[in-house]
Amino acid sequence: MTDTSLVTSSVDFDLDGKQSGHLAVPQSTNSAGWAKYFVPVFVLKNGEGPTAVLSGGNHGDEYEGPVTLMNLFRELKLEDIRGRIIIIPMLNHPAVAAGTRLSPIDGVNMNRAFPGRSTDTITGMIAHFVATEVLPLADLVVDIHSGGSSMHMLPSVNMHRMDDVDQMARMLAAGRVWGAPYVFLYRDVAGSGLLPSYAESLGKVTLGTEMGSKAQFGVDMLRHTGRVRNVLHHAGILTEAYRDRGEAEPIVVAADNEEDYIMAPASGIFEPFFELQDRIESGQQIGQVHSLEHPDRPTEPVVARSNGILFARRSIPLSRQGECLAVLTREVDE
Ligand SMILES: [Zn+2]
Repeated sequence: MTDTSLVTSSVDFDLDGKQSGHLAVPQSTNSAGWAKYFVPVFVLKNGEGPTAVLSGGNHGDEYEGPVTLMNLFRELKLEDIRGRIIIIPMLNHPAVAAGTRLSPIDGVNMNRAFPGRSTDTITGMIAHFVATEVLPLADLVVDIHSGGSSMHMLPSVNMHRMDDVDQMARMLAAGRVWGAPYVFLYRDVAGSGLLPSYAESLGKVTLGTEMGSKAQFGVDMLRHTGRVRNVLHHAGILTEAYRDRGEAEPIVVAADNEEDYIMAPASGIFEPFFELQDRIESGQQIGQVHSLEHPDRPTEPVVARSNGILFARRSIPLSRQGECLAVLTREVDE
C-alpha cells in the first residue's frame, strides 16, 4: 500500500521559473482545529538539466544553512542555472523559529525522522514529504548543518563511507570542490533516520556539512557555507564558476570508530584541556568533569581512546553523563 503524503506544495516542481511558496502540513491545534503549518520552499528551474535539493534548518539551532540558502535564492537569476534547484531553507521550521534543535511541537529530531510516515506527527510528516516527493527528484542532495548550540566544529563537508564505490567516488569529488577546509567521513553514533542516510540509500550524491556552531556563526563560517555554489557548478547546474573557490585541496579526515566519539563519563561541568585542531594521543587526558554535588572530590578524567586531531568539542560546559564531549579524526587517503 502506498503511503501518500498529506502535505501539499504551493510550488510546482516541474514548472520553469523562479518560485517561492510553502509546503502546507495539516495540523489541528488548541488555537485552530483546522490549520496548516507552512514550511517555506523555493524552486528555480531553467529547462532540462540536473536537479539539486538543498536544505537547511534540519536542526533548528543551526542558522548557517537557512541564511546561506535564503541568500542563494535571492541572488540567483534563472539565466545563472541549467536544470533545477529545490531549496527548503528551514526544514524544521518550528525549531528554527524557536531556536531549538528539536521541534517544539512534537519534540522530534528531524534528522532522526526519515523517511517518516504520512500519519506521523509534524516532523515525520515533513520528513515523509521530502523523502517521497522531493529527494527522488534529486541528482545532488545537500543538507547544511553545524554544531548548533552544543558543539564547536572545524568547518567541513561530510558524508558516510559508502559501500558503493562509484557513489562514494562521486560524493568525494563533490565534497572536495566545495572549498571547505575539511572533508569529514563520519559514523552514526546516535541513531538512524538521518536525511543524508536516506538520500544516500536512494543512490544520490549526498553531502552534509558541519559549519562551525551557533557560537562560531559569523562572516568566516558563512563564507565557507556559501561555497555550496562550487558544488552546484560542479553538478552542472550553475553555469558560471563561483568567484570563491576556497581551499584547493581539502584535508580528508575520518572518525570511523566508536572510540573517536568521546562521551561524558559523568555529569557535571566539563573543563576542556585542548582546542580544535590540537593533536591528541590515545590515553591522553583531554579534559575533566567537575561534580556539582561533590565539588571537593577529585575531578572525573576524560581520556582519549584513539589518536587524532580534535575535530569537535562540546561548547556547553554543563554536561550530562553520556553526552558527546569531543570527536577525534585522522587524516585518510581517499
Ligand atoms: Zn545538525
